Amino acid sequence: MPLCSMTIDIDDFLTTVARAVENVQVPVVDLIAVQTGDPYRILVATILSARTKDEVTARAADRLFQLADDIPSLGRLSEDSISRAIYPVGFFRSKAKYLRQLPEALQAFGNQVPESIEDLVTLPGVGRKTANLVRSVAFKKPAICVDTHVHRIMNIWEYVTTDSPFKTEMALRRQLPERHWLTVNSLLVAFGQSICRPVSPHCDICPLAGTCPQRGVTPRRIMKKPSRNNQLPYRFISWNINGIRAVEKKGFAEMLIGFDADIIALQETKAQPDQLSSELKNITGYTSYWHSAERKGYSGVAIYSRLEPLRVLTGIDEPEFDCEGRVLTLEFPTFYLMNIYFPNSGEGLKRLDFKLRFNEALLIFAARLQQEKTVILCGDFNVAHKPIDLKNPAANVKNAGFTPEERAWMDSFIAAGFVDSFRMFNQEPDQYTWWSYRFNARAKNIGWRIDYFCIDAKSRDKILAAAILQEVMGSDHCPVRLEFLA
Ligand code: SF4
Repeated sequence: MPLCSMTIDIDDFLTTVARAVENVQVPVVDLIAVQTGDPYRILVATILSARTKDEVTARAADRLFQLADDIPSLGRLSEDSISRAIYPVGFFRSKAKYLRQLPEALQAFGNQVPESIEDLVTLPGVGRKTANLVRSVAFKKPAICVDTHVHRIMNIWEYVTTDSPFKTEMALRRQLPERHWLTVNSLLVAFGQSICRPVSPHCDICPLAGTCPQRGVTPRRIMKKPSRNNQLPYRFISWNINGIRAVEKKGFAEMLIGFDADIIALQETKAQPDQLSSELKNITGYTSYWHSAERKGYSGVAIYSRLEPLRVLTGIDEPEFDCEGRVLTLEFPTFYLMNIYFPNSGEGLKRLDFKLRFNEALLIFAARLQQEKTVILCGDFNVAHKPIDLKNPAANVKNAGFTPEERAWMDSFIAAGFVDSFRMFNQEPDQYTWWSYRFNARAKNIGWRIDYFCIDAKSRDKILAAAILQEVMGSDHCPVRLEFLA
């Protein structure tokens, strides 16, 4: 049962938010509602908007409505035509399939968009969040659409204490006055996109600063250039993005700026530098460094850095592993930053031996650097170290990522003098960085903690904070963050 603290004055908070966002562009679905009042267009735009930026959704919806401005004309389009019209919205192939099936599904409701949540969720591609949004926006009926912004901000405010959007919806149904139900989503989406952003919220300009509980928040820093003279900590991010060209379509360049980090280490880039757009190669303020696999579309690591390195090392001097583009190290005056994408042991543990050999070679390489200066290792380690680091330990002892052999190597790594920075600050269960795309695992928080920032033990006092950024979407992993005083 979710806890409900409700210490804030919700009327006051939402009124303040409404004033703060009155000049912010309204979410695209609300805009379409105001412009057309048409449940068909609102439903289609809502389906398109999932995991997609508003500008992309607006353009895609416009192209699609030029081809199909009502349900019967949508029924005459092929899946391929829909797909071409809506590209590049996130998951455009799946959404084209759902939209192709939609007219037939609506026959059960007299070729009209139904009003009730129960009916709406029977439609292809319509989950509870979409159903709530359509019911409230298209029909002005009591419904609370809880998307990632509403869930996140209500928890930051400690108005609810929940660990999933569904639990937030249920908690809000009990405690949020009904007069806010229709508007809370568009207000908090606009607020979440402009001020209380998922990464580094802009608390410095927020009218709620001072009264907001700021639960779990690390606000953005105003000063951009850290230095040893003024002792601002460096901020590092590590993220397995599961394909940089895929995550680019989900607003990666904007997210990267939003991290406001000095170094952003990426794993599983799945691209050679010559396959990257000029936008990805030229992110203002950052220089990027790449170590790609010889095999196209496979593995690969990269680092975006605001700090100029003394040296860039690709690989670990082991051709067997280096051809897979798994390690990239930057040397700075007082530390090494190693970005690593550890191999996956694979189905049937076919690559377990390969992984264990890689792990040993990696440890030898890191130990060598460790003799010179501080070594920070980050990346996707592809192993959950302890039972607390995954949801279902007992069921996974024979599976890749939690075998006794992989965990024993992690023990030996720690014994060799490295510290798991996250566990310096947090001993709680249910802290994960990866979730399967299947079984709605992320929403249910059935996950694994396999992404780490580790540091040699003698430098542990330089770590000021370590966190998991669970709210950042775009990959099956979420980023992890480290604050480090060099
Ligand atoms: S003070 Fe910061 S965390 Fe709180 S609502 Fe404002 S931006 Fe969000």
